[in-house]
Amino acid sequence: MKEGLGLRILVVEDDASLADGLVTALKREAYTVDLLHDGIHALEALVNEVFDLVILDLGLPRLDGLAVLKQIRANENAVPVLILTARDALDDRVAGLDLGADDYLVKPFDVTELKARARALLRRSYGRAISEIHYKGLVLYPASHKVSYQNQDINLTRREYSLLHELVSQPGHVFTRDVLQQLMYGWGDDVESNALEVHIHHLRKKLFPDLIRTIRGIGYVVDQEVA
Ligand code: CA
Repeated sequence: MKEGLGLRILVVEDDASLADGLVTALKREAYTVDLLHDGIHALEALVNEVFDLVILDLGLPRLDGLAVLKQIRANENAVPVLILTARDALDDRVAGLDLGADDYLVKPFDVTELKARARALLRRSYGRAISEIHYKGLVLYPASHKVSYQNQDINLTRREYSLLHELVSQPGHVFTRDVLQQLMYGWGDDVESNALEVHIHHLRKKLFPDLIRTIRGIGYVVDQEVA
């Protein structure tokens, strides 16, 4: 299984060719990748969306990376952040770590090195998180993205897994269609208008029919377990 399955990374980099290289390399590992080119858009995305990791260039137009980092940590967003700094701006690296960056790379860097750092940060972050999620006979293992139901392994696609993970992590919370769609795809990928329904249908079929309840015209919910 590819390491990036079910994990969403935000890349913020204004150098177009470097950014393209990063995005291509990360997508090859099956990460869901969103790319933004300036600090204002990055900050907006980080306020409104959930990412598993942020790769943040410090020299950005409109709002620099250090300001973005400072703001998200002030908002108590603990997403792992890997900063990218220019060789002539090593002081920024120290400032970045002081502001709560988790790691840094100095440009130019090897993409293999970047992937290794990303993997380490994700592992660290998921090591801190809960190791299993239990819900009505279902068990989800976030580190491996495996799922079992009544002790039988269930094969899910990465999008089915992401969807299920989100829903069962917050029983009783109604997720709108927009939120779930963004979560599964990030921006930029083509989303068939019925894709979400198809994934929900598959999950009900592979697991059990009344697992996910449709809230007509709004979205979906997994009901709270009755104690
Ligand atoms: Ca830059």
